[in-house]
Amino acid sequence: MELSRMWMRRARPHCFCVVVAKSAMASTMPTTSLSVPYSIPHFTPLLSSPRSISKSTCSSYASVVPVHGSNTEIANNSNSSSSKVLLKGMKYAELENWVKSHGYRPGQALMLWKRLYGNNIWAHCVDELEGLNKDFQKMLGVFAEFKALSLKEILTAADGTRKILFNLDDGLVIETVVIPCKRGRTTVCVSSQVGCAMNCQFCYTGRMGLRRHLTAAEIVEQAVFARRLLSGEIGSITNVVFMGMGEPLHNVENVIKAADIMVDEQGLHFSPRKVTISTSGLVPQMRRFLYESNCELAVSLNATTDEVRNWIMPINRKYNLGMLLGTLREELRVKHNYKVLFEYVMLAGVNDSIEDAKRLISLIQDIPCKINLITFNPHCGSQFKPTSEEKIIDFRNVLAEAGCVVFLRPSRGDDQMAACGQLGKPGEIQPPLLRVPARFQMAV
Ligand code: SF4
Repeated sequence: MELSRMWMRRARPHCFCVVVAKSAMASTMPTTSLSVPYSIPHFTPLLSSPRSISKSTCSSYASVVPVHGSNTEIANNSNSSSSKVLLKGMKYAELENWVKSHGYRPGQALMLWKRLYGNNIWAHCVDELEGLNKDFQKMLGVFAEFKALSLKEILTAADGTRKILFNLDDGLVIETVVIPCKRGRTTVCVSSQVGCAMNCQFCYTGRMGLRRHLTAAEIVEQAVFARRLLSGEIGSITNVVFMGMGEPLHNVENVIKAADIMVDEQGLHFSPRKVTISTSGLVPQMRRFLYESNCELAVSLNATTDEVRNWIMPINRKYNLGMLLGTLREELRVKHNYKVLFEYVMLAGVNDSIEDAKRLISLIQDIPCKINLITFNPHCGSQFKPTSEEKIIDFRNVLAEAGCVVFLRPSRGDDQMAACGQLGKPGEIQPPLLRVPARFQMAV
């Protein structure tokens, strides 16, 4: 009884499922609702320059962005009139229990799981469950929901990158990007939230503010849809990055769950080494992620001083560079053969000097890591400019000469606003731009 109630889509907030499934280790870690940097929108004085926010902006913005007392409320996806259980919101053990609670054998659960995620079927409805027991199919038709998303549009960029727009049940729209690469690697970049609360100053998604967290099912389904829609055309999708809309670790419960489902060997079977979750630096959630997940971690660093990072990534006012890097240094000491990926968006005149490169080398000393230097992708209203290719190469050379493992990541899909930091659609009322420190006035 308790189990079947637990999985009713509307009846249960996601945190309940996680409380039941959590490991002993997890239960000692902070929960999402306790540990998010702020449970009100990000433009509060805590993280914003008071001088940069007018009262009218705050009040009008607050009126359109839900201000929730807890993240459970944000996560509770009250967008469906259906009381059916959403299959893709369950890990395999949960699905098996649910199947058993309806009087069917565990073997039926495994066959269903393989049709949802494996064998090139990626079933989207009961009619695609060929080979399953007829009574079982009938039961699924009555009690189960297969789809968490519906396809709105696919845009194809000149370099072959696809941007897929999905409608959610509540009318909101999310974006997923599929990036084909040479050498047989194709990456799907999934969203974890509608909008984002972090207000990174260089990011278009950040201009939206946070509308809500995505459920685990809505996250998993992006990868399933990408395989279903595009595998035939562009080949196998091998990698997943949680670098679409949103700060994944602000939605840590659902993101860890979705990543677990993606790496299940009987299902989508992505290698944990090829599933990367990115964060802007939510330190407690990052610590939890490193305990609970065996997937890869990327940290969006983008600055070498607190002065610059406080400005361009206001989360730094809560968890500064010292805390962020100190935590990584401590946690990675006990993780065998594990490297964090530092992402560094190159902003002309802001974070791209040779002094920055030298500071970066000393900041990341003793942290097992790789570094991605990312070309900034401008968007309408952006105040930053991309660093020239020549300067990026100089910066790269300083790092490489010091022994760092460093890659250049060129822009992909920017003609369709599918590139890094370009996703989403801000409304008329947006979070505030923060005050530019005096010595960077010339750079923006
Ligand atoms: S860069 Fe990432 S964390 Fe920062 S505002 Fe954009 S989506 Fe959010």
